[in-house]
Amino acid sequence: MAKKQFKAESKKLLDMMIHSIYTNKDIFLRELISNASDALDKLYYHSLSEDVSGLSRDDYKIELALNKDARTLTVSDNGCGMSEKELESNLGTIARSGSLDFKDGLENASGVEIIGQFGVGFYSAFMVADKVTVVSRVHGSDEAFQWESAGVDGYTIKPTEKETAGTTITLHIKEDTDEEKYSEYLDTYKIREIVSKYSDYIRYPIMMDTETQKLKEGTEDEYETVIEPTQLNSMVPLWRKNKNEISKEDYDNFYQSKFYDYEAPVLTIHSKTEGQVTYDALLYVPSHAAYDYYTKNFEKGLQLYTNGVLIMDKCADLLPDHFSFVKGLVDSADLTLNISRETLQQDHLLKIIAKNLEKKIKSELEKLLKNDREAYEKFFKAFGLQLKFGVYNSFGANKDTLKDLLLFYSSSEKKLVTLAEYVSRMKEAQKTIYYAPGETTDKIDLLPQADAVKSKGFEILYLTDDVDEFALQMLREYDGKTFTNICADQLDLDSEDEKKALEGENEANKDLLSFLKETLGDAVNAVRFTNKLKNYAVCLTSEGALSLEMEKALGQMPNAQGIKAQLVLEINIAHPVAEKLKTLFVTDQEKLKDYAKLLYAQGCLISGKSIDDPAELSRLICDLM
Ligand code: ADP
Repeated sequence: MAKKQFKAESKKLLDMMIHSIYTNKDIFLRELISNASDALDKLYYHSLSEDVSGLSRDDYKIELALNKDARTLTVSDNGCGMSEKELESNLGTIARSGSLDFKDGLENASGVEIIGQFGVGFYSAFMVADKVTVVSRVHGSDEAFQWESAGVDGYTIKPTEKETAGTTITLHIKEDTDEEKYSEYLDTYKIREIVSKYSDYIRYPIMMDTETQKLKEGTEDEYETVIEPTQLNSMVPLWRKNKNEISKEDYDNFYQSKFYDYEAPVLTIHSKTEGQVTYDALLYVPSHAAYDYYTKNFEKGLQLYTNGVLIMDKCADLLPDHFSFVKGLVDSADLTLNISRETLQQDHLLKIIAKNLEKKIKSELEKLLKNDREAYEKFFKAFGLQLKFGVYNSFGANKDTLKDLLLFYSSSEKKLVTLAEYVSRMKEAQKTIYYAPGETTDKIDLLPQADAVKSKGFEILYLTDDVDEFALQMLREYDGKTFTNICADQLDLDSEDEKKALEGENEANKDLLSFLKETLGDAVNAVRFTNKLKNYAVCLTSEGALSLEMEKALGQMPNAQGIKAQLVLEINIAHPVAEKLKTLFVTDQEKLKDYAKLLYAQGCLISGKSIDDPAELSRLICDLM
């Protein structure tokens, strides 16, 4: 019988499949099963108008069979089947179902791109098989035909016998090579695994004979191995069920088994959306961050299904970075199976879904914050850092989405509070939101500046993560209120009179202060008297946008060396030390130099800045003693 030639494009695609460098060969089975499922769908729709099949919907099924000796894997369905002409046109010419210009794409694309852009479809069988035989019979016809091909040099079609209507596809599995162990596709266990991974929710039973241990008849403890048809897929996706049919336990179990978490999620979002795009989404916020969450290895993304068939395991485009901790899936019949990383990016449907999901996640987190503070704090402990990075990243593009989800420790409430809560408690005279960066809340409590602000009755937000201050600076303001670092020199708690008096003091002691500044050199930008320190003698404050804490954070980054905050050494004008300095300036300037260094070192110690020259400090203290 004469061999027929594949159409040029088909031949090229087939060739790519045969020599595929596509690593995930498992998906061939997904493709064949979803074709079978489509064929059953088609039969179903046909039979609504005129039933020629005589089958009830309960009889619809997909069967898999393995034959190790013959090295065959068979996929059968009792769906619509293909006539001789259909075999010819569907399998001899691959005209993709999508409207993509297949031919143009082929000219200048690599194999992997092709597979990505056009989906793999039926020809993917050639990734694992060296010969493929399709036997098919249309319902209502008694003729059956066989299509067969061993690769690019063509295919044959001939009449054959087939007892029942539908399609049977037999793959003759390739021999193993050094790189590829094709024999695994003859292994029941492997096939089960692929089906449950990719085709679990196909709405028709996928049956396969499998070995099970059964109690021997007439005995109580003797088992025998029997081979029984077993259904490999669970068929009903949880997310397709009505929400009122699903218990919290169902949701949690599903999450824990699907995403391998020992802990139930802190938040579950199940949404069914109809409109521009129709989709179901089932999303979870884990209770804790995975061990690799804050590392480069972490890959964000949601599972993407179309009609219950998994088409992508981690679709990154569905989640913004600031919500990358969300796990879950999206199922939409509006997406095509032939979707890939490349095409997804351009897919505007996907963009709409992603936008909707972002809004939904945000509003559900806000609800949680409002209704279950404890759970929200648990969430924030795990992922607050990510939200704060989200505010800071992309030049603040997402700050408005995120600002109401942030929590900071409050000096007056002694717990985490939102910016809105802070603002609602602000005193009438208070113009700005005070914050204090530091290593721990205890250490910040000990800062001289904190003392001063608290004694005026103002609340302070304690920032203990490196990113905090960067995030607040990116926010710039909240509800019209700016942010002020209590450790910055612009801290302004004084009345006009107090300010005047202080200015006078600084002016009168100009020479003393510049002497101190000269002594300390580049370590500080200026030395000044202050009246904001109650019991402390000195503090270090920063001028300009970069605070001391930010200097520390940046200093830890590998490529940000040499960035320095502009520091001011402030000396408490009401402290006895101030008088001592004034005296020494007249009587003993050498000693005054040592005092300057000691005061600067104290400032460093209090604000957690490392001491430039510990040996010298030690000598100075001993001298004094
Ligand atoms: P796609 O499924 O994207 O259209 P395929 O290459 O997978 O592309 O299949 C080509 C065509 O062959 C399908 O559109 C369908 O009409 C037909 N086909 C494939 N498998 C079956 C099957 N099991 N039963 C009936 N028709 C099938």
